[in-house]
Amino acid sequence: MFPAPCDLLLTGAGAVLTQDPGPGGLPRAAEIPKLSELPAGTAVAVAEGRIQALGPEEELARRWAPRRRLDARGGFVVPGFVDAHTHPVFCGDRSEEFEWRCQGLDYLEIARRGGGILASVERLRRASDEELHGEVRRHLLRMLRHGTTSCEAKSGYGLTVRDELRSLRILRAAAAELGMEVSPTFLGAHLVPAEHRDHPDRYLDLLCEEGLPAAAEDGLARSADVFLEEHAFDLGRGRRYLERARELGLRLRVHAEQFAPLGGARLAVELGADCADHLEALSEEDAGLLAASPTFAGLLPAVPHFLRQEADAPARLLLDAGARWFVATDFNPGSCYTPSLPEAIHFARLRLGLSVREALAGATCLAAASLGWEGRKGVLRPGADADLVVLDLPRVEGLGYAFGENPVRHVVLGGRVAVEDGCLAL
Ligand SMILES: [Zn+2]
Repeated sequence: MFPAPCDLLLTGAGAVLTQDPGPGGLPRAAEIPKLSELPAGTAVAVAEGRIQALGPEEELARRWAPRRRLDARGGFVVPGFVDAHTHPVFCGDRSEEFEWRCQGLDYLEIARRGGGILASVERLRRASDEELHGEVRRHLLRMLRHGTTSCEAKSGYGLTVRDELRSLRILRAAAAELGMEVSPTFLGAHLVPAEHRDHPDRYLDLLCEEGLPAAAEDGLARSADVFLEEHAFDLGRGRRYLERARELGLRLRVHAEQFAPLGGARLAVELGADCADHLEALSEEDAGLLAASPTFAGLLPAVPHFLRQEADAPARLLLDAGARWFVATDFNPGSCYTPSLPEAIHFARLRLGLSVREALAGATCLAAASLGWEGRKGVLRPGADADLVVLDLPRVEGLGYAFGENPVRHVVLGGRVAVEDGCLAL
């Protein structure tokens, strides 16, 4: 029998961690350590953007005639990372604000000096389409270099209907150009913009009557998100916005209990949101409620570190009570300026007490499930999208152990080699 043609054969793997939750549904915390690890010498055959086979190298070499081979050189192979909470549609950075924070200024003082979300809003509104496109593309490429092959990405720095929709259009174009699957989220309710400060309900009317319907059309957004906080949107306004989004057929994601326990997680559960994210101020009672629901707990453990916050999300409590979870970066210019999921995994292990396999599942198959991509993204099995990462690590325990350096050796994105030896190869 002649070998069948394929696009890529990945060989030389140290080991392959599949973390496949299987058809039985999603794994709970106790099941994660049991997920399968394939031995050194496992190869992966890829064709038409999908994984065709995983198995012993000699066997696959007989069955498949690849157009190209990629040598993992003993690296550990995992599914491409799925970052389920990012804000990559911004221009410039806010490094001067970081300096102020390091000197001890708090959130309100930073806003008074012209920092905060509204500083990014001003920048984005002034940017041309070309400039914004270049910035979004650069941010997605930075994520890709750190092993993120698909993600959720929010608007939220336009805060006019026009600029929010423009953000989503540019995001869609940049992602398509790179062949990266992005689940777009409308976050018009990130903050009330300065021009509506005295009339927040007028801004909310605009979002509900124009922004959300336009975003839902054409699939410009799959989900809607709201920042429920004392200085952003209260529970009543958040509910109105989310109910309108749901009515328009959008999925729901929620920024909840980051600084104050407003009841955002409770609302997310009640409305059947895909996730409630942050949770540093989550009460024990609401943790129980979230754990018993299908709504994911979105863990963003690099954020409190970056904000010099003492409190972390009660992740151990949530996982042990049976919650679904994911680990994400919250990549954004103000409260977490890292595009790296390996870095988020470092904090998930160190600050939240997740095991390496829990953290990795949270950054792959579970993150994918929170986006409705279960079985297709974040897993390595025949039929799944051919998104793979080769880590420059001999074993999985090394993930998050070394920090401040990128452990990603190669990235395969939709069957194409996108990063080779740490360098972009697109
Ligand atoms: Zn966020």
